[in-house]
Amino acid sequence: AAMRKSRIKRTKTVCTYCGVGCSFEVWTKDRHILKIEPQTEAPVNGISTCIKGKFGWDFVNSEERLTTPLIRKGDRFVEATWNEALDLIASKLTELKDAHGPDSIGYIASSKCSNEENYLFQKLARAVMGTNNVDNCSRYCQSPATAGLMRTVGIGGDSGTIHDIASSDLVLVIGANPAESHPVLATRVKRAHKLHGQKLVVIDLRKHELAERADLFLRPKPGTDLIWLSAVTKYIIDQGWEDDSFLENRVDGLDKYVQSLETYTLDYAEEQTGLSKADIIQLATMIHEAKSVCALWAMGVTQHMGATDTSTAISNLLIITGNYGRPGTGAYPLRGHNNVQGACDFGTMPAWFPGYEAVQDDAVRARYEQAWGVKLPEKPGLNNHQMVESIHEGKLRALYLFGEDMALVDSNSNHVEDAFDKLDFFVVQDIFFSRTAQFADVILPAAPSLEKEGTFTNTERRIQRFYKVFEPLGVSKPDWEIFQEIANRLGANWHYKHPGEIMAEAASLAPIFAGVSYERLEGWNSLLWPVAADGEDTPLLFKEQFGFPNGKARLFPVEWTPPFEAGEEFNLHLNNGRLLEHFHEGNMTYKSEGITHKVPSEWLEVSPELAKEREIESGALVRLTSPYGQVKVRVEVTDRVQGNELYLTMNSTDEGSAVNRLTSSYHDRITHTPNYKEMGVKMEVLEPS
Ligand code: SF4
Repeated sequence: AAMRKSRIKRTKTVCTYCGVGCSFEVWTKDRHILKIEPQTEAPVNGISTCIKGKFGWDFVNSEERLTTPLIRKGDRFVEATWNEALDLIASKLTELKDAHGPDSIGYIASSKCSNEENYLFQKLARAVMGTNNVDNCSRYCQSPATAGLMRTVGIGGDSGTIHDIASSDLVLVIGANPAESHPVLATRVKRAHKLHGQKLVVIDLRKHELAERADLFLRPKPGTDLIWLSAVTKYIIDQGWEDDSFLENRVDGLDKYVQSLETYTLDYAEEQTGLSKADIIQLATMIHEAKSVCALWAMGVTQHMGATDTSTAISNLLIITGNYGRPGTGAYPLRGHNNVQGACDFGTMPAWFPGYEAVQDDAVRARYEQAWGVKLPEKPGLNNHQMVESIHEGKLRALYLFGEDMALVDSNSNHVEDAFDKLDFFVVQDIFFSRTAQFADVILPAAPSLEKEGTFTNTERRIQRFYKVFEPLGVSKPDWEIFQEIANRLGANWHYKHPGEIMAEAASLAPIFAGVSYERLEGWNSLLWPVAADGEDTPLLFKEQFGFPNGKARLFPVEWTPPFEAGEEFNLHLNNGRLLEHFHEGNMTYKSEGITHKVPSEWLEVSPELAKEREIESGALVRLTSPYGQVKVRVEVTDRVQGNELYLTMNSTDEGSAVNRLTSSYHDRITHTPNYKEMGVKMEVLEPS
């Protein structure tokens, strides 16, 4: 037995399934995963995990993994060597750049891959290819939250830690479903609520698990969050409940902001949101009576046409009530992917270098130009929404995309696929033959987290290392190694031998990472940015200073944008979101037997009222039609939804039921995040039960 035990390898890794950032040991023998074992040393989760972290790893050994480069020949893909594939990519990209300029190529990064990989990818786009056309999937989810925080507090990250949330007097959960999307974080809230008297308010269209436990659960009309938030804030000010000393000492812009609230009376809010005046007063009173309030929000807020403004309104409410800079207070946009925070932090965004320094800032650009030895473009690049439109306009000719199934996750997928069809050249780098890969000219096989080293940054801004468990399958390679090979074929001279060297370079250039190093992140250690050069990290932001030059927060007046109306014919409102067991587009979890045997497919939630009206039962097959497409899906009748509200889980890899066949190309006007949550549909019954 001792012999057998000694052949078992234990390796620390960080979960790739959500922004909570649980870490644990993977026990392996050869290529077999024996078990996942969380340890008390894990800074976020201790000994907890959820089903995805515990059982979601079979995909690593899936027979469907890409194990060799593929090159398109007509309608087929043929196997190629790395040299053939990389030489083709280098020559095609050079040809297109020479013929149409550097901005004719776009680069789509991955929120599932490491900080170091995202750093190198933006360096490839900017320094080697000369364009800022680089973006990541935060455009589909949390960009509006980041923008709302940048406007008001100057830093686009969570204010504190998950521990801080658990210590709060009152937690507001707005348009988020943490029990399924951020399960271990949700257990902290559930425990604080049950055992320590924490108050919980949930505002959502759907009565999910936390809503059932909440002290107050409110269901406003879709797309009206800005109105009730502003009405609550106005009511607090009208009662004289604002935090005067905080406002006087730490905040700019009070007078103009107070004027901007005039419209948001209780009468107006009641009429527009469907919440009663008593509800709004009760919520305002709970906020007033709590010593500390934190606000958690996610895509129920951010996937709307007015999403940045609603995120701003949440932050305004926290500022007015002095709820920043103390434990238990602050703003917590809940990051969905394991490294969506890190992908943004490390510069895969069209207007920002790593560490949120603007590409238009001459001094910052000069710093990067000197370090990289090149002239850098000044103009912000296209975001991924603009890239799709630019392809349709014939301007963007090529795309290089890694670790992202854009054909499945971008809204209005028919429109996105039509764009892919028009590309002169398309490189897709992934671990699986994704829906997007079908449109590629070259497909490169990448290695998942268990087959490489790197760091991820969770929703708390916590940077953690993960270590290599297995060798890459077949001839697949870590993404950062592929970028280096392509960059060198395009004239660069990169010699990174280990991701630690990439992190050292990022730390030398971006002030918020100044004190970050692989040595300091060894094992279970972690650091929360900003990390000063002397090594001090920052679990809680804004204790003394906000992120603007004068150190003060800024109240930012906002106006309501009515939600998109699809037309009378499409009179059912389709909401969508995650499911505990599956991860996002399902590329990994639908290939993990430990999970699919429990939840093999997606479904549509229909209210008991609507089911009765349409004479259907659970198990019925229906067709949903929007102005943009159709899907067929099975029904579950449940009182989690009410009236004409429908809810479709979004984790489908099945062509016939993917929600983005229905969603539109309309978007938040500031960040271009699609309005996934504002969809009108009609429903036809194909089989009643
Ligand atoms: Fe992974 Fe998130 Fe589950 Fe933790 S809560 S195990 S990070 S999916």
